[in-house]
Amino acid sequence: MPSDVTIDPESDRWNYRPAHPLALNPLFSWPPSPMAILNWYRGAWLQITAVSTCMALALLIWWLILPPLAAMASFAPGWMAWVWLANMVPHVIVASTLHWWLYFHKGQGMRTKFEKRDLARNNGIFTFNNQVWDNIWWSLGSAVTVATVYQWLIFWAMANGYVLTVTFAENPVWCVVWMAFIPMWSGVHFYWVHRLEHQPALYKRVHAVHHRNVNTGPWSGISNHWFENMLYFTTYFIHLIIPSHPLHLTFHAMFQQISPVMSHSGFERVIVNETQAARAGDFFHQLHHRYFECNYGTSEIPFDKWFGTFHDGSAAATERTRKFKKQMYTR
Ligand SMILES: [Zn+2]
Ligand SMILES: [Zn+2]
Repeated sequence: MPSDVTIDPESDRWNYRPAHPLALNPLFSWPPSPMAILNWYRGAWLQITAVSTCMALALLIWWLILPPLAAMASFAPGWMAWVWLANMVPHVIVASTLHWWLYFHKGQGMRTKFEKRDLARNNGIFTFNNQVWDNIWWSLGSAVTVATVYQWLIFWAMANGYVLTVTFAENPVWCVVWMAFIPMWSGVHFYWVHRLEHQPALYKRVHAVHHRNVNTGPWSGISNHWFENMLYFTTYFIHLIIPSHPLHLTFHAMFQQISPVMSHSGFERVIVNETQAARAGDFFHQLHHRYFECNYGTSEIPFDKWFGTFHDGSAAATERTRKFKKQMYTR
C-alpha cells in the first residue's frame, strides 16, 4: 500500500484526466466574475468547439441544402428528403472523420484519450456484436429518423404561419440572443430528460442502449434507443413556442446531433501536426459514462451542482457517486 496520502486513486483510473475540479459555467457562480464569463463564452464560440462547429454547419446547411421555408408549407417528398440529408450528411462526415483520425488511423495515439481501453469488438452486448456498427445503427437509423420527423413538423408549422417566426432583418438582436441561448436551453432540457431516463425501470428498457458505451467513441454520441430519441429530440419543440427563424432550428439540430459526436469522442482535444485542432471530448460526460449516477446535465447549466450529483473528477466524488448508485438500486 502506498504510504503517500497525496496519491489520488482517481488519476490511476484514466489514461488522461484533465485538470480538476472540473469547471462549470461561471455565469452561475457567486460573486460574479465578468472576466471568467467572457473567457467561458469566448472559449466556446471563438475556437473550434462543438458550439462553433455546429454554428458553421448550420450556416452551410441553411445556405446550401435546405429549401426555402415557402417550399415546406405542405408535406412533399422533395424538401423532406433534403431535411433528412441535412441531418445525415454532417453526422456521417463529422463522426467518420473523428473516428478515422482517433481510432482507425490513431493519428494522435493516446494523447488526451480519457479511457485506457480501445473500443469493443466481438462483444455480445452490442447489436451486431460490434460497438461501432451498433452505434452507427442507433445513430443513423433511430436518432436521425426521429430528429428528422420532428424537424419536418416544425418547418411545416413555421411555413404555414401556425407559429410565430422572426427574421434577422427585422429582429437582429433577438435572433442573435436566442441563438446564444440555444445551448443553454438544450442543457436544461437534457438534464431533466436524462434524469428521467435514469429511473431504474426506464434505464433498463431504454437508456441502457446508450450506456452500453462505457468507453465512448464519436459514433456513441446519439446512439440511443427509439424511445430515448423520442424524448431527447422534443427539445426542438421549443421553436413552436419561442419565436424562431429556420436557422435557429438548424443550429439547434446540429447542436443536438453533432455536439454529442464530439463530446463522446473519448479524447479531450484533437491534435494534428502537434497543434490543437479542436476541443472535442467532454470529461464531464465521460464521468457519467464511467460512474452513471452523476453529471446528468452539462457544464453549461450546473443543475448537477445544485442537486448534489456533480462529479468534479476527484476520487472523493467517485466514492460519493458509488454510494448514491447503491442507494438508488436498493431503495
Ligand atoms: Zn445516462
Ligand atoms: Zn452519453
